[in-house]
Amino acid sequence: MNRKVLVITEMKGAALRQVSLEGVSIGKKMAGSGTLIAAVFGSQASPHVEALGEHGADQVLLFPDALFDAYHSDIYYQAFVQAIQETNPDVIIAGHTANMKDVAPRIASRFGYGLVTDCTHVEFEGDEPVYVRPIYAGKAFEKKRFTSDTMFVTIRPNNFKAEPLRERATPEVIPCEAGSVDLRTVIRDIVLKSTGAIDLAEAKIVVSGGRGIKSKDGFQPLQELAAVIGGAVGASRGACDEGYCDYGLQIGQTGKVVTPDLYIACGISGAIQHVAGISNAKTIIAINKDPEAPIFQIADYGVVGDLFEIVPLLTEEFRKKLA
Ligand code: FAD
Repeated sequence: MNRKVLVITEMKGAALRQVSLEGVSIGKKMAGSGTLIAAVFGSQASPHVEALGEHGADQVLLFPDALFDAYHSDIYYQAFVQAIQETNPDVIIAGHTANMKDVAPRIASRFGYGLVTDCTHVEFEGDEPVYVRPIYAGKAFEKKRFTSDTMFVTIRPNNFKAEPLRERATPEVIPCEAGSVDLRTVIRDIVLKSTGAIDLAEAKIVVSGGRGIKSKDGFQPLQELAAVIGGAVGASRGACDEGYCDYGLQIGQTGKVVTPDLYIACGISGAIQHVAGISNAKTIIAINKDPEAPIFQIADYGVVGDLFEIVPLLTEEFRKKLA
């Protein structure tokens, strides 16, 4: 196996997104004895070159311009075109994130590449990668092979291991300048919604509230539990529709898809549209006062009871254990 693989990475503020390192790790496997190139963007990207090298990048295309600090479809599209023309890759990997969902189809269409989105697993049949992705809201999986020469794949966060291969690495850095772009839209302002410090899509632990939390204040015990165990707070659409929280927290078919190690569902009935967003969670704990709630059919552990009694007890126990 000898492929040239380009991984398009993403930043979140000063941090490199975890899914980008996951992309580099699976990209290295696909490259075999070939070359793994990572492209990084923004004024805070350069400190991450070493980590990319440790995870397997042989070369790093560094676009250090502050233009990339906020996502703009036209600017990123132009830079990706540049990165692809510069490297002529056999495989392109990006995270299945909001920004990449926006730009990946444009890139695939521009170059005539096949595109497999939301890949959760890669199997190898000999040298040939077979891409596995969920369909029918996570109820089934399909396997895809490419017929195009270049494969473009977006990977679901938290489904691939980010594995450092070596302790220190200094990949070759290729500085790149942002080309001139005719902007069709201009970003005047970015309004950040407060959805918690930990990115929901990449969180290892998620504590979620549903309509059963009954008010905005009902999220308080969930936030306390999440803070103690290092989790992010999510919600069902029921909770969002009631105005208990922002839609940025919604998990499910029309919200975010999460793949945490631990998902704690509090006062959530377990409608199929919600379950579509958590079907790959490794362990699910459900707290619901209705023993017939459908969430118990998919939960690994269930607690029948009032969340306002159980969640504070859990928080207290974790606090003692983790002290
Ligand atoms: P409910 O179904 O009202 O459940 C509340 C639960 O809380 C009940 O099971 C109740 O027993 C329990 N409860 C109440 N009080 C307590 C207490 N004190 N302690 C413990 N338990 C308690 N939904 C999503 O979540 N995400 C999506 O992305 C999504 N997309 C959708 C897309 C479409 C096209 C459609 C039609 C629907 C979508 N929905 C989505 C909505 C979905 O069908 C459900 O309506 C929604 O998930 C219900 O939210 P819920 O479980 O919080 O509320």
